[in-house]
Amino acid sequence: MAERVDVAVVGARCAGASLAVHLARAGLRVCVLDRAEFPSDTLSTHGIQPSGVRALDRLGVRAELETLTAPITQARIALGAARASVDDITALAGAPMLNVRRITLDRILVSAAATAGADVRTGVAVTGLLRRDGQVAGVRTSEGDLAASVVVGADGARSTVADLVGAREYAVTEPGRTFAWAYLEDVPASSDGTPATVWLGKPGRHAFLASVTDGDMFLAAVTLDHEDKPKLLADREGYFRAALVEWPELAEVVQPGRVCGPVRVMSNWRGFFRRSAGPGWALVGDAGHFKDPTPGQGIADAFRQSERLAAAIVSGLSGRLPLPESLNGYWRWRDEDAWPMYWFANDLGAPGPTTPLRAHVQQLIAGSPGRTEQLLRVLDHEISPSAVTSPGLLLRALRRALRTTRGQRASLLAEAGGLVREDLRRRLAKPRQATESDLDVAVG
Ligand SMILES: Cc1cc2nc3c(=O)[nH]c(=O)nc-3n(C[C@H](O)[C@H](O)[C@H](O)COP(=O)(O)OP(=O)(O)OC[C@H]3O[C@@H](n4cnc5c(N)ncnc54)[C@H](O)[C@@H]3O)c2cc1C
Repeated sequence: MAERVDVAVVGARCAGASLAVHLARAGLRVCVLDRAEFPSDTLSTHGIQPSGVRALDRLGVRAELETLTAPITQARIALGAARASVDDITALAGAPMLNVRRITLDRILVSAAATAGADVRTGVAVTGLLRRDGQVAGVRTSEGDLAASVVVGADGARSTVADLVGAREYAVTEPGRTFAWAYLEDVPASSDGTPATVWLGKPGRHAFLASVTDGDMFLAAVTLDHEDKPKLLADREGYFRAALVEWPELAEVVQPGRVCGPVRVMSNWRGFFRRSAGPGWALVGDAGHFKDPTPGQGIADAFRQSERLAAAIVSGLSGRLPLPESLNGYWRWRDEDAWPMYWFANDLGAPGPTTPLRAHVQQLIAGSPGRTEQLLRVLDHEISPSAVTSPGLLLRALRRALRTTRGQRASLLAEAGGLVREDLRRRLAKPRQATESDLDVAVG
């Protein structure tokens, strides 16, 4: 007979390890499996929003992480030619941001899961699912079968669990831009004790995210149009350094630094939602939903989702709610939670130059400290993106653009019409909520 646990979690990084902590603390028998051995790297620029840092506090690992890297308390923002700043992220958001390399963060999360009482098995691949009466009833692994009342796929965008249950995808989007990032050592800002700063923005053709990270390193990330990728691949470091010059203030900060290791490049991603609950299974983190990484949301998303999913599983297994209803509720909440930011991220990461009307919107945001703070609160998932892309602001930007730009009346009006139509299309495309009949469908 196969070994038995309450919950088998496939994947042990931000989503899986954090879920395992919450489930184990709730007294459930949980086994978290990952084919990787930790410490292990993964493709990410690993900026953690303040809400993610608060979640790390609840997971009991924030203090340890803050001994390894400086809390980021300042933001420098570039929106076209305009510049803005926020000087106290902690006062604004109740926590600083953090940037921790995944070789560090994920190792600490895995260890937190074990400390909480989860059975952590690394170096173990999940290769199949056990099924009983049309339900998922456990996992097949490289080391044998494991029966479970619930199987959770926390196994990333190329999720094996999603594949095995045939989780339907919806609202799929193409990759907007190519990501390139590198670690630099000997950047004075990494170790001189000045308040750590995150650099965010799109001053020209490229978008940037940069800050100190652990190991006295500095992380700088650039996103570029796909058409620029061949030039990047021909001379990674040369192109990367040349791109940084587009934001002179940032270039000056990193100029003394030496690029340490390769300039990493990623362009073969896409955005999607997946059905994230079914008979005996659920998906969390990137396994259920992936968005353009430009606004740095995935880690905090994974923590927020794992808290919700843990509560749903506890509720379902304790009999407070039927398990299918409980998992379905989690899926419904995930879609509500992620839908507006999905499109905001898509717009931020859109290829090509910033369009004229958007440039005016950005100037209005950068020109007002209150709106700049709102932008950071949007990125922290505290308020909806519509707070900074409201119809009122769009109208103000349009009036301003019509006043200050000659000969572009028709194109500005066409752009405004396009933005309104696109917003409507997205609202209408919002997925039909999962229904009981969805949950009745037995897995294949
Ligand atoms: C270029 C890039 C930059 C990013 N930058 C940021 C950023 O700055 N800030 C931010 O918040 N987010 C960022 N993200 C997103 C963020 O990295 C992800 O959202 C986050 O890592 C999701 O974590 P996860 O636990 O869901 O999945 P993953 O981190 O993908 O972990 C999945 C785990 O599952 C394991 N696994 C997979 N299949 C199996 C199997 N069959 N058996 C056993 N184990 C398996 C894998 O080994 C892996 O360890 C970025 C993403 C990219 C691509």
